[in-house]
Amino acid sequence: MKITFIGAAHEVTGSMHLLSACGRNILIDCGMEQGTDDYENSPLPIPASDIDAVVLTHAHIDHSGMLPFLSASGFGGRIYSTPATRDLCSVMLRDSASIQESDAEWKNRKARRSGEEQVKPLYTLSDAEKTLKLFSPLPYDEKTELAEGITLRFCDVGHLLGSASAELWINENGVSEKLVFSGDIGSTDRPILRDPTRIAHGDTVIMEATYGDRDHPPVSDNASELADIISKLFPAVGTS
Ligand SMILES: [Zn+2]
Repeated sequence: MKITFIGAAHEVTGSMHLLSACGRNILIDCGMEQGTDDYENSPLPIPASDIDAVVLTHAHIDHSGMLPFLSASGFGGRIYSTPATRDLCSVMLRDSASIQESDAEWKNRKARRSGEEQVKPLYTLSDAEKTLKLFSPLPYDEKTELAEGITLRFCDVGHLLGSASAELWINENGVSEKLVFSGDIGSTDRPILRDPTRIAHGDTVIMEATYGDRDHPPVSDNASELADIISKLFPAVGTS
């Protein structure tokens, strides 16, 4: 078994890991890098067509945004996610494709004026539509055998509608090992989302650490914090 860290290893966005086990290549998340690009994602070490499946933890673009590029590059396997993640991706990947197309159009208008080369969008709406057909939704808390020796279970982590940690049981050459890819983990006591599930065991855990060195203020303080920000931005509000 081998895990290759392709993105989000030094920074927050562009989450992507390649798991090679039992003769299969499985990508865990396929995210787009967003914001300042401090560390570029490594290129995929294998052709996209050699990836057998994608396990998607949640719909945020920094975890899902490169899926249409992957399928445009030759990937044709299944994308496993929860049903809600699939539904959200159906909106978000189409939207992301429209942004890619309009960005390229804008750059090309400028390029035509300055005589520079035309660019192609990273992917198109039709690539996104093709990608959406590859989704295989799986419910929370049910084990599914992805291939001989590889079993997957999603559990709710309360980060976003449909968000999940992926538990993967690998049985290779007579050795069993359990991997946990946490995905982004939510907070407790949120009004709509469930509290994150506690996973009892993992031999290897690959865990997000976005707020690893910070304490969140209590949820009960959020409303007054928001009110403070609004009154700083619009000082006249509340005084008239
Ligand atoms: Zn997220």
